[in-house]
Amino acid sequence: MGQIVLTKVRKAFGEVEVIPGIDLQINDGEFVVFVGPSGCGKSTLLRLIAGLEDISSGKIEIDGKDATDAPPGKRGLAMVFQSYALYPHMSVRKNIAFPLKMAGMSEAEQNARIENAARVLNLSNYLDRRPGQLSGGQRQRVAIGRAIVREPAAFLFDEPLSNLDAALRVVMRQEISELHQKLKTTMIYVTHDQVEAMTMADKIVVLHAGRVEQVGSPLELYNAPANLFVAGFIGSPK
Ligand code: ADP
Ligand code: MG
Repeated sequence: MGQIVLTKVRKAFGEVEVIPGIDLQINDGEFVVFVGPSGCGKSTLLRLIAGLEDISSGKIEIDGKDATDAPPGKRGLAMVFQSYALYPHMSVRKNIAFPLKMAGMSEAEQNARIENAARVLNLSNYLDRRPGQLSGGQRQRVAIGRAIVREPAAFLFDEPLSNLDAALRVVMRQEISELHQKLKTTMIYVTHDQVEAMTMADKIVVLHAGRVEQVGSPLELYNAPANLFVAGFIGSPK
């Protein structure tokens, strides 16, 4: 579970080709970071994988099955949004339950999953609060909880920490890494922050103008950047 294979994935918005063609394999249980400067296509690529945008051509396989035309809800993936996407008028419990309720799951099963997610995220004592009564870090954990309860084959994060202050960002990075170690589920994490990429990733995918410049472990990229763009971006002395 959690293997994602992209073959010649291309995306154009009208005349503008944002992603000319990407081949990429993400393995089960990997923590993969898409990193690159603003506008290089990170969010677009993630949204193509999630099914929130249609690809213009190519193929997306998830766990060996062709998912190219599958709607987002049938891909078995869960996108984690920034915490401001929470419903302010709903309790933490209801926020986390929302996707399960939409899927028509029984209350008993919903509650079991919510309590499990709350335990993993240290939110058990906060389930009856509203997002406005939580700290920034707790709110971000609720947003992650909403993904965990769906028991996805992979989690997709799009710059989830970018509206948190620097100190909290460091804490949340650590928490997401620990979550990955606990769940051992594939995670794809989009960021423009090199430090985030280097500290969190098993595998980094460096993007530049819709193309993959290099794929490798943080150490590989640092020690052997494929070109000057990667060297400059990662900050290694090539
Ligand atoms: P990143 O997340 O790396 O900052 P994006 O994936 O958001 O980059 O954007 C990549 C490029 O695609 C940008 O040039 C952006 O303007 C363009 N783009 C993204 N979404 C759309 C859209 N819906 N319509 C037209 N152009 C888009
Ligand atoms: Mg983006």
